Amino acid sequence: MSVTVPTSYALANLPRYTSYPTAPQFAALDEDSYRDWLGGIGAETALSLYLHIPFCHALCWYCGCHSTITRNEDRIARYAGGLHAEAALLEQALPAHGGIAALHLGGGTPTAIGAAALRALLAALRARFGVRPGAEFAAECDPRTLTEETIGALAAGGVNRVSLGVQDISPAVQRRIGRVQPDDTVATAVERLRGAGILRVNLDLMYGLPGQTEAEVAATARFAAALGADRVAVFGYAHVPWMKPHQNAIRDEELPGALERLRQAETAERVLREAGYEAIGLDHFARPDDSMAVAQRAGRLRRNFQGYTTDTAPALLGLGASAIGSIGTPALAGYAQNEPDERRYVAAVGTGHLPVKRGRRLSEEDRLRRHVIERVMCDFVLDLAELPEALLAEARPGLERLEADGIVALAPDMLWVTAAGRRHVRHVAACFDAYLGAGAGRHSAAV
Ligand code: SF4
Repeated sequence: MSVTVPTSYALANLPRYTSYPTAPQFAALDEDSYRDWLGGIGAETALSLYLHIPFCHALCWYCGCHSTITRNEDRIARYAGGLHAEAALLEQALPAHGGIAALHLGGGTPTAIGAAALRALLAALRARFGVRPGAEFAAECDPRTLTEETIGALAAGGVNRVSLGVQDISPAVQRRIGRVQPDDTVATAVERLRGAGILRVNLDLMYGLPGQTEAEVAATARFAAALGADRVAVFGYAHVPWMKPHQNAIRDEELPGALERLRQAETAERVLREAGYEAIGLDHFARPDDSMAVAQRAGRLRRNFQGYTTDTAPALLGLGASAIGSIGTPALAGYAQNEPDERRYVAAVGTGHLPVKRGRRLSEEDRLRRHVIERVMCDFVLDLAELPEALLAEARPGLERLEADGIVALAPDMLWVTAAGRRHVRHVAACFDAYLGAGAGRHSAAV
């Protein structure tokens, strides 16, 4: 596959489209409205829970997450108590429902609350909401801090998939991003997880890091394949120091340019494809028998706040500070985001309030555009004949520019994202975004 930099679009900043409308379009949402939304969930509706645990022991300079550096055990325990309180409030607010189909522990570093607290939290969630057969319980983990005890707690709570942050195995790159993590730390974590019965292991890699070379990206991709990861995510580093001031520790002049980023992304893809992985969406790879590869082949791949997912539950409930949920009922579709400040979050749930802060009820037009954007981000193909004429007329000038750049191929009724254009699919999605340029905020480089 050749390297392509679209002439007019390479340096544009675009959303990642993990939601539509994107978070900058959210507005104030009150608790009563959110309770109404929850009340519309049907008796058979499967639930997906996302729990945000924002604590980490040390700051990685590239971090783009909502995370807090602390080792203050009282503070962490208060927060874990807040999660229990919020779960109790949600249980009361929900009508009969279909139980948990998917659960995701994200952060931060979810295991930062400790093994005992993890056990208690997972047990409480299982008891309060019930678990559907075949449910997937996933956790993001830091191989540097993963212990036998925390792995035991995750396994006991039903966690059956873990994502480990790797980024790059080069010690030189690791020093430049403030995260030193020897290879054998990752290999040991994978071995311990599998030994505890957590057999599905994802590894998260990164390109576009300071001073990183194609050879280092290739070596890291080979390392991930050699460990037998079920899925490998290869994210482009998002340098947004205006939003994440700690990223100023990364020197701008050491960052690869757009063309080098593309070469690195292509190198990772080549290595992983040669190792037998299937490319999934914009930035994921999966073994052919992994559920994500199966979902993509069946046209069931989805995109939510965690990125690409196989989770199809109509009601995603976010628990924890800053967590975002997505509620779909016959009557509405809407996003709800919790209070992002950890202390205010704990105070709200401690006084019996669901800590919702912002959100967005989607209009019919939002829902249509969301569907189009999700499908092109997941399938790389659109049936244009299904789109309303006005929407297509609005998008067509942008799509025709992308066709000239080799990003898409257009037929009267169909759009295909080309092989070389897959990494630029955010530009295709942007053609259907009604809010872009209307105060949508600054985003990371779209390649
Ligand atoms: S461990 Fe993850 S969430 Fe925590 S600071 Fe590092 S990158 Fe951010």
